[in-house]
Amino acid sequence: MADHQNRGSAVHREARKDYRWEGVDRLAYKEEGSAPFKDITRQVLITDAHLACEMRYFEMGPGGYSTLERHEHVHGVMIFRGRGHCLVGDEVRAVSERDLVTIPPWTWHQFRATGDEPFGFLCMVNSERDRPQLPSPEELEALRQNPRIAAFLDGRIRELD
Ligand code: MN
Repeated sequence: MADHQNRGSAVHREARKDYRWEGVDRLAYKEEGSAPFKDITRQVLITDAHLACEMRYFEMGPGGYSTLERHEHVHGVMIFRGRGHCLVGDEVRAVSERDLVTIPPWTWHQFRATGDEPFGFLCMVNSERDRPQLPSPEELEALRQNPRIAAFLDGRIRELD
């Protein structure tokens, strides 16, 4: 019954040019210096107190990458623009427009742009979420034992195609 009292309000945001949306700010990916990343921005497309998830749009320039991290919360990703590679657990895959990727809990993940164009993806995430963990030097070394992951982390990504 109480559900009828507090509906919130509908939101309609028109798409704008250049992968922007009406009334949506283009934000820093994360606080500068808080974690390694390169040339990546964040837009929060959908957030609603009645919804247990949010949808964001991340975009990186050529050679850009997101933070290598893991956490309990989950991501559901759709590649929206361009081409890249993603590391999920111990797998590195090439991804392009409209591919889908899920990141399970506590799984190392990173996205890297390849090609000469921007690389963008939609990312669905829990509204309430834990703080990401970064790899320790030992954990990074363990990941690097896999030559494909080492090549990915070093940006030698074109060799992987
Ligand atoms: Mn993450």
